Amino acid sequence: MFLKRLDTVGFKSFADRVTVDFVPGVTAVVGPNGSGKSNITDAVRWVLGEQSAKSLRGAKMEDIIFAGSDTRNGLNFAEVTLTLDNEDHALPIDYQEVSVTRRVYRSGESEFFINKQTCRLKDIVELFMDSGLGREAFSIISQGKVEEILSSKAEERRSIFEEAAGVLKYKQRKQKAEYK
Ligand code: ATP
Ligand code: MG
Repeated sequence: MFLKRLDTVGFKSFADRVTVDFVPGVTAVVGPNGSGKSNITDAVRWVLGEQSAKSLRGAKMEDIIFAGSDTRNGLNFAEVTLTLDNEDHALPIDYQEVSVTRRVYRSGESEFFINKQTCRLKDIVELFMDSGLGREAFSIISQGKVEEILSSKAEERRSIFEEAAGVLKYKQRKQKAEYK
Protein backbone atom coordinates (compact mmCIF):
# COMPACT_ATOMS: atom_id res chain seq x y z
CA MET A 1 0.00 0.00 0.00
CA PHE A 2 1.26 3.46 -0.74
CA LEU A 3 -0.08 6.98 -1.13
CA LYS A 4 -0.58 7.82 -4.77
CA ARG A 5 -2.25 11.19 -4.75
CA LEU A 6 -3.64 13.94 -2.58
CA ASP A 7 -6.31 16.28 -3.95
CA THR A 8 -7.41 19.30 -1.97
CA VAL A 9 -9.86 22.13 -2.54
CA GLY A 10 -10.38 24.89 -0.03
CA PHE A 11 -8.24 23.21 2.60
CA LYS A 12 -6.36 25.85 4.65
CA SER A 13 -4.06 27.80 2.29
CA PHE A 14 -5.00 25.67 -0.76
CA ALA A 15 -7.90 27.69 -2.14
CA ASP A 16 -7.72 26.23 -5.64
CA ARG A 17 -7.63 22.55 -6.40
CA VAL A 18 -4.14 21.30 -5.61
CA THR A 19 -2.97 17.82 -6.54
CA VAL A 20 0.15 16.23 -5.13
CA ASP A 21 1.30 13.05 -6.89
CA PHE A 22 3.43 10.70 -4.85
CA VAL A 23 5.61 8.08 -6.51
CA PRO A 24 7.09 5.06 -4.74
CA GLY A 25 10.16 6.15 -2.81
CA VAL A 26 10.81 9.35 -0.93
CA THR A 27 8.93 12.57 -1.62
CA ALA A 28 10.28 15.77 -0.11
CA VAL A 29 8.20 18.93 0.11
CA VAL A 30 10.29 22.07 0.30
CA GLY A 31 9.33 25.74 0.50
CA PRO A 32 9.64 28.91 2.55
CA ASN A 33 8.13 29.28 6.01
CA GLY A 34 4.37 29.57 5.88
CA SER A 35 4.09 28.27 2.31
CA GLY A 36 1.88 25.33 3.29
CA LYS A 37 4.19 22.34 3.77
CA SER A 38 2.65 21.32 7.09
CA ASN A 39 -0.83 21.96 5.66
CA ILE A 40 -0.21 18.96 3.39
CA THR A 41 0.30 16.59 6.32
CA ASP A 42 -2.66 18.23 8.09
CA ALA A 43 -4.76 17.37 5.03
CA VAL A 44 -3.63 13.73 5.18
CA ARG A 45 -4.36 13.49 8.89
CA TRP A 46 -7.74 15.14 8.47
CA VAL A 47 -8.94 12.85 5.68
CA LEU A 48 -7.82 9.84 7.74
CA GLY A 49 -10.27 10.91 10.42
CA GLU A 50 -8.58 13.45 12.68
CA GLN A 51 -11.28 14.97 14.89
CA SER A 52 -9.22 17.37 16.96
CA ALA A 53 -8.98 20.90 15.53
CA LYS A 54 -6.08 21.55 17.86
CA SER A 55 -3.94 18.80 16.40
CA LEU A 56 -4.66 20.34 13.00
CA ARG A 57 -3.27 23.56 14.46
CA GLY A 58 -6.60 25.38 14.60
CA ALA A 59 -9.06 26.43 17.29
CA LYS A 60 -12.17 24.97 15.66
CA MET A 61 -12.79 22.66 12.70
CA GLU A 62 -13.95 25.59 10.55
CA ASP A 63 -10.38 26.91 10.66
CA ILE A 64 -9.34 24.33 8.09
CA ILE A 65 -11.56 25.98 5.45
CA PHE A 66 -9.79 28.56 3.26
CA ALA A 67 -10.44 31.81 5.10
CA GLY A 68 -9.70 34.20 2.24
CA SER A 69 -6.78 36.45 1.43
CA ASP A 70 -6.23 40.09 0.37
CA THR A 71 -7.28 39.24 -3.15
CA ARG A 72 -10.00 36.63 -2.75
CA ASN A 73 -12.90 35.65 -0.58
CA GLY A 74 -12.98 32.70 1.75
CA LEU A 75 -14.65 29.47 0.64
CA ASN A 76 -17.64 27.65 2.03
CA PHE A 77 -16.17 24.19 2.21
CA ALA A 78 -12.94 22.22 2.32
CA GLU A 79 -12.43 18.89 0.62
CA VAL A 80 -9.55 16.43 0.67
CA THR A 81 -9.23 13.16 -1.25
CA LEU A 82 -6.45 10.70 -0.59
CA THR A 83 -5.84 8.01 -3.18
CA LEU A 84 -3.96 4.89 -2.15
CA ASP A 85 -2.56 2.02 -4.12
CA ASN A 86 -4.06 -1.13 -2.60
CA GLU A 87 -2.67 -3.79 -4.92
CA ASP A 88 -1.32 -5.70 -1.92
CA HIS A 89 -4.76 -5.50 -0.26
CA ALA A 90 -3.30 -4.04 2.92
CA LEU A 91 -6.64 -2.27 3.23
CA PRO A 92 -9.46 -4.76 3.76
CA ILE A 93 -11.46 -3.72 0.70
CA ASP A 94 -11.66 -5.43 -2.67
CA TYR A 95 -10.22 -2.62 -4.79
CA GLN A 96 -6.75 -2.14 -6.29
CA GLU A 97 -7.05 1.57 -5.69
CA VAL A 98 -8.86 3.20 -2.80
CA SER A 99 -9.84 6.83 -2.49
CA VAL A 100 -11.15 8.40 0.67
CA THR A 101 -12.77 11.82 0.66
CA ARG A 102 -13.79 14.13 3.45
CA ARG A 103 -15.68 17.39 3.01
CA VAL A 104 -16.76 19.93 5.60
CA TYR A 105 -18.98 22.99 5.16
CA ARG A 106 -18.92 26.19 7.20
CA SER A 107 -22.35 25.20 8.50
CA GLY A 108 -20.59 22.30 10.26
CA GLU A 109 -22.05 19.62 7.99
CA SER A 110 -19.62 16.87 6.97
CA GLU A 111 -19.53 14.29 4.19
CA PHE A 112 -17.36 11.20 3.81
CA PHE A 113 -16.76 8.94 0.84
CA ILE A 114 -14.88 5.73 0.12
CA ASN A 115 -14.37 5.28 -3.63
CA LYS A 116 -16.98 7.99 -4.20
CA GLN A 117 -19.61 6.07 -2.23
CA THR A 118 -20.98 8.04 0.67
CA CYS A 119 -20.04 6.56 4.05
CA ARG A 120 -19.56 7.45 7.72
CA LEU A 121 -16.43 8.72 9.41
CA LYS A 122 -16.48 5.45 11.35
CA ASP A 123 -16.11 3.50 8.08
CA ILE A 124 -12.98 5.45 7.17
CA VAL A 125 -11.48 5.01 10.62
CA GLU A 126 -12.23 1.28 10.49
CA LEU A 127 -10.81 0.93 6.99
CA PHE A 128 -7.44 2.17 8.21
CA MET A 129 -7.48 0.40 11.56
CA ASP A 130 -4.59 -2.07 11.79
CA SER A 131 -3.19 -0.80 8.48
CA GLY A 132 -0.58 1.29 10.26
CA LEU A 133 -1.98 4.42 8.65
CA GLY A 134 -4.95 5.58 10.73
CA ARG A 135 -5.25 8.75 12.74
CA GLU A 136 -3.82 7.10 15.86
CA ALA A 137 -0.92 5.51 14.04
CA PHE A 138 2.64 6.73 13.88
CA SER A 139 2.72 7.13 10.13
CA ILE A 140 2.90 10.89 10.64
CA ILE A 141 5.56 12.11 13.04
CA SER A 142 5.31 15.82 13.75
CA GLN A 143 8.19 18.14 14.55
CA GLY A 144 7.11 18.18 18.20
CA LYS A 145 7.10 14.40 18.36
CA VAL A 146 10.66 14.19 17.07
CA GLU A 147 11.77 16.52 19.87
CA GLU A 148 9.82 14.44 22.37
CA ILE A 149 11.58 11.29 21.22
CA LEU A 150 15.02 12.90 21.29
CA SER A 151 14.85 14.89 24.48
CA SER A 152 12.40 13.21 26.80
CA LYS A 153 13.31 11.17 29.83
CA ALA A 154 13.79 7.45 29.33
CA GLU A 155 10.33 6.66 30.82
CA GLU A 156 8.61 9.14 28.52
CA ARG A 157 10.46 7.80 25.51
CA ARG A 158 9.44 4.30 26.51
CA SER A 159 5.77 5.27 26.57
CA ILE A 160 6.04 6.55 22.99
CA PHE A 161 7.37 3.16 21.92
CA GLU A 162 4.68 1.40 23.94
CA GLU A 163 2.07 3.48 22.20
CA ALA A 164 3.55 2.65 18.78
CA ALA A 165 3.66 -1.05 19.65
CA GLY A 166 0.03 -0.93 20.77
CA VAL A 167 0.92 -1.88 24.37
CA LEU A 168 -0.06 1.38 26.01
CA LYS A 169 -3.81 0.85 25.79
CA TYR A 170 -3.49 -2.46 27.65
CA LYS A 171 -1.25 -0.89 30.28
CA GLN A 172 -3.79 1.87 30.80
CA ARG A 173 -6.63 -0.63 31.09
CA LYS A 174 -4.62 -2.66 33.59
CA GLN A 175 -3.92 0.43 35.67
CA LYS A 176 -7.60 1.40 35.62
CA ALA A 177 -8.61 -2.08 36.74
CA GLU A 178 -6.08 -2.07 39.56
CA TYR A 179 -7.17 1.29 40.97
CA LYS A 180 -10.85 0.45 41.00
P1 ATP B 1 7.08 26.29 8.27
O1 ATP B 1 8.26 26.17 7.38
O2 ATP B 1 7.12 27.52 9.10
O3 ATP B 1 6.78 25.05 9.06
P2 ATP B 1 4.91 25.59 6.45
O4 ATP B 1 5.34 25.57 5.02
O5 ATP B 1 4.78 24.28 7.14
O6 ATP B 1 5.84 26.59 7.29
P3 ATP B 1 2.12 25.86 7.00
O7 ATP B 1 2.08 25.87 8.47
O8 ATP B 1 1.75 24.60 6.30
O9 ATP B 1 3.54 26.36 6.48
O10 ATP B 1 1.17 26.98 6.40
C1 ATP B 1 0.80 28.08 7.12
C2 ATP B 1 0.04 29.01 6.19
O11 ATP B 1 -1.26 28.50 5.97
C3 ATP B 1 -0.09 30.38 6.83
O12 ATP B 1 0.30 31.34 5.86
C4 ATP B 1 -1.56 30.48 7.13
O13 ATP B 1 -2.05 31.78 6.98
C5 ATP B 1 -2.16 29.56 6.08
N1 ATP B 1 -3.47 29.09 6.51
C6 ATP B 1 -3.76 28.24 7.53
N2 ATP B 1 -5.09 28.07 7.64
C7 ATP B 1 -5.66 28.81 6.67
C8 ATP B 1 -7.00 29.06 6.26
N3 ATP B 1 -8.05 28.49 6.88
N4 ATP B 1 -7.21 29.91 5.22
C9 ATP B 1 -6.16 30.48 4.58
N5 ATP B 1 -4.87 30.29 4.90
C10 ATP B 1 -4.62 29.47 5.93
MG1 MG C 1 5.62 23.50 8.92
